[in-house]
Amino acid sequence: MEMPKEINRYCPKCNKKTKQKIIQVKTGRKRGALTKGARRFESKKKGYGGFPRPKPEKSKKWGVKLTKKLDLRYQCNECGKMNVRKKGFRVKKFQLVKK
Ligand SMILES: [Zn+2]
Repeated sequence: MEMPKEINRYCPKCNKKTKQKIIQVKTGRKRGALTKGARRFESKKKGYGGFPRPKPEKSKKWGVKLTKKLDLRYQCNECGKMNVRKKGFRVKKFQLVKK
């Protein structure tokens, strides 16, 4: 999928439509302490293969999606405020194109 680098979009701070730059945020590795549930899951995980759940790639029930949802942000050119797109969508290829 191709998308222009700049689009006209509503900015809540300026309260009008402005030109906004599209920024794709890439998710990095998880940092910091895990939550309690995650720690419990980590401690339970040891054993043979897919415990407590079957391995995702081997089971239909826990099938893994091949694509990840995009995290798109829009930065207003006038006030500089960053606005977040509420819903991401899945695409295999994503490109920002000059138009
Ligand atoms: Zn603005």
